[in-house]
Amino acid sequence: MAKNYHSYFENAVARVRDEGRYRIFRDIRRSKGNFPKATWFRDGLDEKEITVWCSNDYLGMGQMECIVEAVKSAVDRAGTGSGGTRNISGTTRYHVQLEKELATLHKKDAALVLTSGYVANEATLGVMSKIMPGLVIFSDEKNHASMISGIQRARCEKKIFAHNDLADLEAKLKSVPLEQPKLIAFESVYSMDADIAPIEEICDLADKYNALTYIDEVHAVGMYGKQGGGVTEERGLTDRIDIIQGTLAKAYGMIGGYVAADSVIIDAIRSMASGFIFTTSIPPSTAAGALRSVKVLKMTPEKRTQLHERADSLKARLREAGYPFVDGPTHIVPLMVGDPVKCQAISDRLIEDFGIYAQPINYPTVPRGEERLRFTPGPLHTDAMMDELMVALEIVWEEFGLTTSKVAQAL
Ligand code: PMP
Repeated sequence: MAKNYHSYFENAVARVRDEGRYRIFRDIRRSKGNFPKATWFRDGLDEKEITVWCSNDYLGMGQMECIVEAVKSAVDRAGTGSGGTRNISGTTRYHVQLEKELATLHKKDAALVLTSGYVANEATLGVMSKIMPGLVIFSDEKNHASMISGIQRARCEKKIFAHNDLADLEAKLKSVPLEQPKLIAFESVYSMDADIAPIEEICDLADKYNALTYIDEVHAVGMYGKQGGGVTEERGLTDRIDIIQGTLAKAYGMIGGYVAADSVIIDAIRSMASGFIFTTSIPPSTAAGALRSVKVLKMTPEKRTQLHERADSLKARLREAGYPFVDGPTHIVPLMVGDPVKCQAISDRLIEDFGIYAQPINYPTVPRGEERLRFTPGPLHTDAMMDELMVALEIVWEEFGLTTSKVAQAL
């Protein structure tokens, strides 16, 4: 760097290192047809066959032949990039059809596709106070960084309520005049804690105190509900939620995010959210792949059944062996370690010696002292893979002096 700014950057990275937050990305080659098997390029030197246990491609849709074909044929027809923002030449048949499909999935009038789930949260929440002056946003304390960022961008009054705590939410709702605009922002499946929000009760409070409801279903769409419409569909609550947000990047195996709502709400977001307006739309082929994936997952409930069966099976084995995992109602299985150094070291040992890839989840993704390995078993994890995982865990757990026989309490 020519100018004398080096030390700022070095110091910033040093702070991250000191806090134990410095991240080294594992260099993985996914190979279509083999997932969750993959190849790890160890330090750029040699290669090792691994089983991926921490992917958010929860159902393996990212390698499904008919999705790959949909993407390929759209590239052949439409080329690569979309060539513009949605307003300036970047709206194609694929975008339009995808939004229709997503709106139908969530039984809403309309949907809007944005660059990612992150951007969907940030752009939508970020514009809410412009749409509703005087807005107060009520946000669950464990909401994802993208929601927090959106709420900060909104620069309106915010009230953070304790995680899934209805009494705290109600007390906070009560403190704001009934006629003042309010929005409750929360998630359905919390992906680090593997728990689910009391959606119906939150909707009851929203009705009582005149608040809009905004739910992030990123870790649920495609995987919960009769057609993959998320926990809101599963619990018959779709019409009680005003804005449903989701991603195309996890169960649907693509990239992109969206919101679905009444057409007047979508029209306002479309017209005012900078994170939607001032950026190039997703490639037509991505929209085509996502469209196919949403359609396929609507019609294949067996994939959802398999996902939950695999998760239940892993949980049963961990329970039997007495591991301290979060025994929650979701497909995500966090195994608690409670120490950042051990968490990293266990993850290293698992991949290096046993070819088992589970990324350590440390601060700031989770609070200090709650470090964990987060397993995401899916339909493509076989019993044999699970056997290998259990053997490896037993060895490593003992080696690191960790105890079993305790199921982690709900966090
Ligand atoms: N919301 C939640 C709850 C998430 O966990 C994530 C990403 N892990 C996002 C939003 C962002 O979604 P995307 O990866 O599609 O940007």
